[in-house]
Amino acid sequence: METQTIAGTALETLFVNQQRTALRIKKSAASERIARIVRLKDVITDHFDLMLQAEFDDYKKPAGESKLALGSIFDEIDVAVAFLESWMKPKMATTPEALGGDAVISKIIFEPKGVCLFITPWNYPFLLTFRPLIACLAAGNTAIIKPSELTPHSSALIKKIISLVFPEDEVVVIEGGAEVASDLLDLPFDHIHYTGGSRVGKIIMKAAANHLSSVTLELGGKSPAVIDDSADFADAAGKIAWGKYFNCGQTCIAPDYVLVSENRKDYFMNTMKATIDSMYGPDGPGVDSLLYSRLVNAHHYRRVKNLLEDALENGASVVTGGTVDDSDNYISPTLLDNVNSDHAIMKEEIFGPVLPVLTYRTLDEAIDYINQGERPLGLYVFGKDNAAIQAVIDGTTAGGSVVNHVAMHYMSPFLPFGGIGNSGMGRSHGHYGFVDFSNQRPVLEM
Ligand code: NAD
Repeated sequence: METQTIAGTALETLFVNQQRTALRIKKSAASERIARIVRLKDVITDHFDLMLQAEFDDYKKPAGESKLALGSIFDEIDVAVAFLESWMKPKMATTPEALGGDAVISKIIFEPKGVCLFITPWNYPFLLTFRPLIACLAAGNTAIIKPSELTPHSSALIKKIISLVFPEDEVVVIEGGAEVASDLLDLPFDHIHYTGGSRVGKIIMKAAANHLSSVTLELGGKSPAVIDDSADFADAAGKIAWGKYFNCGQTCIAPDYVLVSENRKDYFMNTMKATIDSMYGPDGPGVDSLLYSRLVNAHHYRRVKNLLEDALENGASVVTGGTVDDSDNYISPTLLDNVNSDHAIMKEEIFGPVLPVLTYRTLDEAIDYINQGERPLGLYVFGKDNAAIQAVIDGTTAGGSVVNHVAMHYMSPFLPFGGIGNSGMGRSHGHYGFVDFSNQRPVLEM
């Protein structure tokens, strides 16, 4: 198998070749970098249907969901192509009088970091590989990519697409699991871009420390959706159900759980149940459905099923859903009532199609609850009362927030995307991604 032959010397040779190339493309003009990005776009476009098929083959991801997510790759490319020339221009700065004032030029140049490592996850294999890669290429770097071993059809196609666009000394894909990732982490990368769970994120950061490689960590966590009493409940229910059950709940920015006031809980539950039943049918999509993903593998299926069973054994109840099928890693869209903070399901990121609803007496209580946990990747607040919305935003810290929707901040190439604390560090997308993959080097011309 390739993963065995690639270890050790072969990896080092690849790395050294990329270091050499990195020095060359460091000097590349915007037009050359754009040409590389457009070549990638063309090959992605040619392979689009195969990408949909690969994601389906990996865990029955429906084509409609794949298409929607993959659209962000093209938005990212278009923005990089349109703005790269201006991003690359040196940024002029004020020179203090003590250093010569207006007679002296102060500027910041954006130079590529060098050789970058990508370790990417399975839940959106193409999107979460290609989207950050565009920023990396825009900034003038080379890259070694290790996609997830859990989605082998997608990983093989990522490797093929990359090999059709780039020579190995510019961008190369190395397939394999944790062992291969570990071999790669022994190399002195100039930057590491990791997307995945927080547990492995800590391993990556420790390994990066050996070489003092800079890191971008796109991690996960429990992203709450807070419903203020002033919210349009039907609208909130539709958006939460969409964001939660898309990709079978395996989205880093999906709402993990809901906080609603005690007074309005019954109304919220009824609205949510009616919404879910109308989206998927009262018995759920069914194990034969081609319009609903499965859990990625038996391990993750069992993990989510165990969280569900533990909650039910400890007093939680199913409002709708709760159907499981071991033969196909299938869990239907599930809404849970009577969950409390001691349940295992509230102690880890669910990453599956089970939505617990918890109640609060006052909005401050909801804010305190969120602040007792790790800082979330996404925090969503629904309401029409601006003061209430502002109180939730001001009272909490999160990687990103959306008011009256979920997850949509990911779609914009004009907003920085990323986490804080346990949900990650560094910023991706558009100009922010370009800066993340650049060394902001001050030059003082005296
Ligand atoms: P994961 O951490 O299990 O795996 C991600 C990658 O890390 C894979 O390529 C895997 O091979 C590699 N890996 C696994 N063990 C390793 C080790 N010991 N050393 C080095 N590399 C190792 O994550 P996952 O299960 O693929 O993804 C799910 C998690 O990712 C969730 O927590 C989710 O919230 C998060 N996520 C975050 C974002 C984001 O943009 N912030 C996006 C998608 C997923």
